[in-house]
Amino acid sequence: MMMDIHDEMEAKDFQKPSDIITETVCISSGLLANRYCNRTRQEVFILGTEPDRYCRVHRAPPPPPPPDPEEKEEAGDESENQQDPPVSEERLETTDEE
Ligand SMILES: [Zn+2]
Repeated sequence: MMMDIHDEMEAKDFQKPSDIITETVCISSGLLANRYCNRTRQEVFILGTEPDRYCRVHRAPPPPPPPDPEEKEEAGDESENQQDPPVSEERLETTDEE
């Protein structure tokens, strides 16, 4: 029936406005939640009024500094001294006696 088709089209036209969006925001900052936000909630915004930035309170921890080979050498200096006899002359003497 023609009436039925007309009704369907009207129903389609009457869907809820599309300028309403739901975003996950960070409760602490009120900005868009990123993966590091521990407390988030869904908030409804009118399209265009939603925060356009992500939370800066919570973010990835800074990457560990790259290992410095020179620093490592310095750290092992103490044990190196203990292993190495400071007097090399004794060694020569021992070899001489034998
Ligand atoms: Zn956050």
